[in-house]
Amino acid sequence: MGVAFRFGRIHGCLGILTFVPKWLMLLCLCLRLLLLMSCSILRLMIGMVAIFDAPSVVAIFSSPKLCPSREDQWIWADDLKGMFSVAGAYRGIKQWPVNTQHPFRPKDWSRLWKLCIQDRLKLHLWKCAQNALPMRGVVAHIVNSDSDQQCLCSLCGLEAESAEHLFLRCQVARVVWHGSFWPLLIERFVDSNIAEFILGLLYASRTFGIPKVDCRNFTLAAALVLDSLWYLCNDVIHNKATIDPFVVIQTTRRGYLEHSLAWNAVEVASGLFWRPSPVGSWKCNVDVAVRSSHSVLTVVVRDSEGSLCSLYTERLTSQDPLVGEMAALWAAVRLVEDKSWPQIIFESDCLSVVQDVLHESPVAGWQMEDWLPGIRRFFSMHAPHSLCWIPRRQNKLAHRLAKWAASAVVYGFISLSAIPAHVFCCDCL
Ligand SMILES: [Zn+2]
Repeated sequence: MGVAFRFGRIHGCLGILTFVPKWLMLLCLCLRLLLLMSCSILRLMIGMVAIFDAPSVVAIFSSPKLCPSREDQWIWADDLKGMFSVAGAYRGIKQWPVNTQHPFRPKDWSRLWKLCIQDRLKLHLWKCAQNALPMRGVVAHIVNSDSDQQCLCSLCGLEAESAEHLFLRCQVARVVWHGSFWPLLIERFVDSNIAEFILGLLYASRTFGIPKVDCRNFTLAAALVLDSLWYLCNDVIHNKATIDPFVVIQTTRRGYLEHSLAWNAVEVASGLFWRPSPVGSWKCNVDVAVRSSHSVLTVVVRDSEGSLCSLYTERLTSQDPLVGEMAALWAAVRLVEDKSWPQIIFESDCLSVVQDVLHESPVAGWQMEDWLPGIRRFFSMHAPHSLCWIPRRQNKLAHRLAKWAASAVVYGFISLSAIPAHVFCCDCL
């Protein structure tokens, strides 16, 4: 199955060139599906593969034409008319034996296609997992020219170019991964198969310990890094581009922000995202992260343009989430008490705490008796201030900040520059 070349000058029949049928066919099929590849580019790619030595080429072209009306042409060998069609290629692929060695199961492919990232990035992940990218080292191996210098990585030139090398082991890749929005110690995966690595990205929570709420953004950042590295590789080969990992990092970060903003706009429209306060007022978000031996509360104050005014974290000995949420609100009240802000909207994602504060009864518990009267007094004395409940997804910054502070052991007033980008940008509008 695959591509063949029909010679008009050799008996008018097929000169069989059955090479690299699987990956070429897969690549051809997916690219044709997306109309990203023209026939001429396909022919160019095929032409890159050296099939005949020079004397054979001379002999072929000097032989007389037995069928003068027929020109030499590429044909699709599996079609009676020699024409490529998506349906025909799909029928051919369906006949391939199932690869039982591949780490992906049907549900994993399904998970990949359901990722909330751009289709182009999903396709790239699929190609990586299928090892369907025309890497120099892979192509050289197919045409038995492994010793050729041309098969070396176009970025570092130290190893044969393969998906594993380019994305996981290459020196340039390491720098880009480290500078990503979600920095990754890619050295941990130098011995991994690229399909296993992609599978790990699909289950980021399990593989990398990423909080479930952040998995989509993590996968997006990782997919952009993979895409940027592949783009750089091609840019170097075809345009002699300069290899500057820091430019790639900037491009990747910009792409991450653009994709995030697009998603955020959708979520804002659907009411699932944090919104800034009305002009002339401030918003104060609180949350708590509970750990096995303690809790960490956070207070985040932003103005009507969404700019951060204050970030505060504090360690608590209690591991009760309700106590932690109330303590966070009490800390927020103390924090803004001496400010001259005319109107502050306090937001908590703990419904019990909000109900306890807004209603005289019931009292949440004896541990909160010290704080609850003070909080109620604060709101009764400052009528413009208000307290409301919001869903967890609208409280993302306070939530992430609490988790980060708990793991980084950072307490007190925090400088914006000390916080990782994926934390302070999570609510960017
Ligand atoms: Zn390299």
